[in-house]
Amino acid sequence: MSKGFIPAAKPIVGDDERAAVDAVLLSGMLAQGAEVASFETEFSDVLLDGRAAVAVNSGTSGLHLGLLAAGVGPGDEVIVPSFTFAATANSVALTGATPVFADIELDHYCLDIAHVESLITDRTKGIMPVHLYGHPANIVAFRALADKHSIGLFEDAAQAHGAGLDGRKVGTFGDFAMFSLYPTKNMTSGEGGMVSTGDATVERNLRLLRNQGMERQYENELVGFNARMTNLHAAIGRVQLTKVMGWTAQRKANAAFLDANLTGVGTPVVAAGAEHVYHQYTVRVDGGAAARDKLASALKEDYQIGSGVYYPIPNHRLPSFMREEDLPNTEIAAQEVLSLPVHPSLDQEDLERIVEAVNALTTAGA
Ligand SMILES: *Cc1c(COP(=O)(O)O)cnc(C)c1O
Repeated sequence: MSKGFIPAAKPIVGDDERAAVDAVLLSGMLAQGAEVASFETEFSDVLLDGRAAVAVNSGTSGLHLGLLAAGVGPGDEVIVPSFTFAATANSVALTGATPVFADIELDHYCLDIAHVESLITDRTKGIMPVHLYGHPANIVAFRALADKHSIGLFEDAAQAHGAGLDGRKVGTFGDFAMFSLYPTKNMTSGEGGMVSTGDATVERNLRLLRNQGMERQYENELVGFNARMTNLHAAIGRVQLTKVMGWTAQRKANAAFLDANLTGVGTPVVAAGAEHVYHQYTVRVDGGAAARDKLASALKEDYQIGSGVYYPIPNHRLPSFMREEDLPNTEIAAQEVLSLPVHPSLDQEDLERIVEAVNALTTAGA
């Protein structure tokens, strides 16, 4: 990149994506069609070890439709983290079910399995771990826990394209899993989401729900949405899919450099057997939110380096939920996390600037 401002995230779109969109425009087939079908097959091959994939118009739609397709509705409870993007709990609430907020563990910021188990009731329909920042949740153990209690397992893999645990990719454990294709995610289609499932009934429900409940035109079988992906978006996604593994390798190399050189902040911890795809490179800053926010603003003002806090307000305390909960690790994380640039457009000079700035500010007692 240049010597100017280093942004926290930077979507990479180039001539290949533009040519692919232009080809769709020239074809005149703009809405969901052959491009979308090809994108689904290719996504399945590259990122899901062949598990079925259904494309939709956003990650949030993917979670919402996935939950509906899995039979979640009014009266049900789904256990979710509070420390995540609001779409996780929103999608549960939109089905009429109740999101039940569980705490996280502080090494990887993913759901704490012991706390989740303590929250299981007769009404619990499923558990929805988030593979936050691109680090896999403890998903092997969550699959076993869900099976033990005969409840569902739903993966929010919005940030985790290509992540895995014990040699198996995320998105292949849950009754369904959702990958977001928003521009700041590890790959994009402009807007979009991909839902994976190994369950033929869930897959069929998803395909119906995204298209007004129709398989055959005008023979609507259930009440559905228009949540279709367009061929234009799929064309972008197909190009990105050919690049995402290379970008992920670059993210990992950038993270390794930051790990080796940052002092004064807590660097990310990777679980044994985990494949971390570094959607975010998230450090912990001592001294609470004031110190963390001061570091972020000094990075921006004094060093022209962007950063981000994901997420400053836990979901249970958002005005949209306002629940009294005791989630101590969630509160600590919300106060202390800071995500530094790790995206694949960074060059060596950028990485060195980030290290020098963070180290200078943290040893100076910033
Ligand atoms: C981005 C994101 C979503 C929502 O995806 P959209 O494509 O923006 O609708 C859901 N959950 C998490 C954890 C996310 O990061």
